[in-house]
Amino acid sequence: MAERPVRKALELPLGPTTQPPNRLTAQVLDERLRGTRFVSLTPQRVLNSPKSTGMDYWSLNPYVGCEFGCSYCYARYTHRYVVERAHDAGKLTDAEFADYRGAHGWEAFEKRIFVKEHVIGALDVDLKHVPLGETIVIGTATDPYQPAERKFKITRAVLKRLARCEGLSFGIITKSPLIARDADLLVRLQERNELQIHVSLITADAALARKLEARSPVPAARLRALGKLVDAGVNAGLIIAPVLPGITDDVAQLDTLFAAAKRAGARFIHAGPLRLYPAIRDRFLPVLGEHFPDLVPKYQRAYAGHGYAPRDYAKALSRRIEKLRKKHGFKNQSAMFERYRPAKMPVQGELELRGSLP
Ligand code: SF4
Repeated sequence: MAERPVRKALELPLGPTTQPPNRLTAQVLDERLRGTRFVSLTPQRVLNSPKSTGMDYWSLNPYVGCEFGCSYCYARYTHRYVVERAHDAGKLTDAEFADYRGAHGWEAFEKRIFVKEHVIGALDVDLKHVPLGETIVIGTATDPYQPAERKFKITRAVLKRLARCEGLSFGIITKSPLIARDADLLVRLQERNELQIHVSLITADAALARKLEARSPVPAARLRALGKLVDAGVNAGLIIAPVLPGITDDVAQLDTLFAAAKRAGARFIHAGPLRLYPAIRDRFLPVLGEHFPDLVPKYQRAYAGHGYAPRDYAKALSRRIEKLRKKHGFKNQSAMFERYRPAKMPVQGELELRGSLP
């Protein structure tokens, strides 16, 4: 018998100030040769409410930190937050804190991965607070199918539990072909719920991807996984995010991606420009300087004082994406950025990257 989430308003926001602390045991579960460690984390809550994040959906991340190490990743602050909170609560020694934080605060995100073990008890409790019809997005702050998932299978355990629900809407965002392993569960999940799988790919150019994403799977593998999901009957498409001004936003590259997605059977395509929050700059700007030095001052001007792409740039990109959607026969599905948009959009700055779009 399918389980129906209760129609119940949240009594308490599950945000940073009210959420019970996670239990960080500092128990190392595994270690890779190149020094990456996987550390046990027992969460007291696993679903982040819309109220606590400012987004208009619930979110769930089976891991904290991500081995793929994309230079533009906006989620590094989540790792730092967990480490600093555990240290403040006296659960980490100063030496552990230094190790789990890293010299600059961004390296540890890629090399100290927290594994949310025993997640199902917390998920059972949290699901009671999710009203029917609401959306839960998996993989907003780390990739749920990063290499750790092959061993720990936390995402698979979560999907098994969610497959008992009905009347909800689920989104999953991943760069990993490992998601095809769970096609059986995804088919079950979408029998009684809405489901959108977003396979994330910013370029079909493998050499360019390697410059920008330290350890992500090659584009062809992601497109093959997308094809496998669609063949299994799963509602899956491509998400091109972030589109990087002056690097991946030209018509030729985007057209290649659209064509590849079409061949793979993608049901939809979403795209959005780079968000350059302060937490991203430390990691992304040096990579930009190494490979595209001429673009550094342009980015610094365009994103001065705010994290969002300039409004005119975002509009021009949106028009370009729409033309490509039409050309390749995709419907105008703005659901991803309509439905998953931040609740509070900050004021946009001056357009400085106009030169990269006609
Ligand atoms: S795969 Fe996603 S979560 Fe992982 S580093 Fe890249 S952008 Fe961040």
